[in-house]
Amino acid sequence: MVIERLMPMSSGQVVTRIAPSPTGYMHIGTARTALFNWLFARGRGGKFLLRIEDTDRERSTPAATEAIVKGMTWLGLEWDGDVVSQFARVDRHAEVAHQMLASGHAYKCYSTQDEIQTFREAARAEGKSTLFRSPWRDADPATHPDGPYAIRVKAPLDGETIIDDQVQGQVRIRNTELDDMIVLRSDGTPTYMLAVVVDDFDMGVTHVIRGDDHLNNAARQMLVYAAMGWPLPVYAHIPLIFGPDGKKMSKRHGATGVDEYQAMGYPASGMRNYLARLGWSHGDDEFFSDAEAMEWFDLDGINRAPSRFDFKKLENICGQHIAATEDAALLQEVEGFLAASGADPLTSGQRDGLLRAMYCLKERSKNFAELIEKAYFVLTEGAVEPDEKAVAALDLVSRGILGELTPQLQNASWDRTTLEEVVAGVAEANDTKLGKLAGPLRAALAGRSVTPSVFDMMLVLGRDRTIARLTDIKA
Ligand code: GLU
Repeated sequence: MVIERLMPMSSGQVVTRIAPSPTGYMHIGTARTALFNWLFARGRGGKFLLRIEDTDRERSTPAATEAIVKGMTWLGLEWDGDVVSQFARVDRHAEVAHQMLASGHAYKCYSTQDEIQTFREAARAEGKSTLFRSPWRDADPATHPDGPYAIRVKAPLDGETIIDDQVQGQVRIRNTELDDMIVLRSDGTPTYMLAVVVDDFDMGVTHVIRGDDHLNNAARQMLVYAAMGWPLPVYAHIPLIFGPDGKKMSKRHGATGVDEYQAMGYPASGMRNYLARLGWSHGDDEFFSDAEAMEWFDLDGINRAPSRFDFKKLENICGQHIAATEDAALLQEVEGFLAASGADPLTSGQRDGLLRAMYCLKERSKNFAELIEKAYFVLTEGAVEPDEKAVAALDLVSRGILGELTPQLQNASWDRTTLEEVVAGVAEANDTKLGKLAGPLRAALAGRSVTPSVFDMMLVLGRDRTIARLTDIKA
């Protein structure tokens, strides 16, 4: 069967890919690998492809694939062309295994599991390498039985394989450590090692940027490239992400799924920026745009040492991205966040209010959850329901002072300077400081203690709503 290459390698064009196995969710490490591949390709006018390595039929449910597609989409890592299913390409993988067989780079191995087991036990008893050495490697085909066989690739018996890795440098592996790996099992199914190479070649992948847990696989995968006479891609194996304690990032450290960060309300732009900095650097730059990252991203800037996930830094960078996003775009993102968290959609009044308040909400919000919390004063259409802290701030004395303030606000011109003067005047008349009035005012206007400044709230709410809230509290 002849299958066309999915995308012929056009000269000079960079093609990268992310090739996740569906595990049910998208790990933050996969997101970072995807981001590096995306930045590398996009910064060079290249292509970035998505392949789902779904050959494990039990784990590869549609929901597991969907989790990856969703994660990639939310992160804004758009890929070129359709999502490629590895499983859909099994015939092509088998075809390549047979080509290697025909060219003498692979052979039929009739050894049974029991025989392999016996070989290993004997080797172990003699203190020798337990790598299986098939008796069929050089067997005369005339001696082949009429039974099931696996196809094994012929690995070199001596010398070494050198992986010229862009991050790890020259990695040397003694060929005595490589066995004749199976490329096609006796049931006719291709192995993962074969499928990855065939797919990468057919998809025209020029640069394989992936976790360094695949470094050893590279040496074995190179056997297939060599057997087929295919040009090798450039390899860049990036160190894994560690938790703050220097151990491999896991649930113990906090969220590991991309969806969890989305649910916590971190903006995708901030996530991209933070993840780019996680294991890659460009001078001292911490805060940057996608365009800058695309321009700067290079394999040289990838650190050799594992990076540590730093939640504080993530929050800081996300906060800067929120503050730097235009109000209308931010509103859209906030609405996306609300929808994803299952909240009711905003009414048009709430949308207008949120948009008017955005200028003061976006400062110092680490995530959308915090922004929404601060927006309570403007999203609440009726009377506010003060929380515990707000109730405590509204003692009798301060209620009295707020009562004095109300009539003065009736006639004040509604601008920041005047409002500041009026509130300061009332504070002074009561022998208190402006700062002392801020707590009760916050409580009255928002029913919360974490809010934008009282003057910003007054300006956003306007005279009628401000006075209504102060009056409500007095009652
Ligand atoms: N499917 C592999 C994984 O999820 C990635 C393979 C590759 O990038 O070559 O770890």
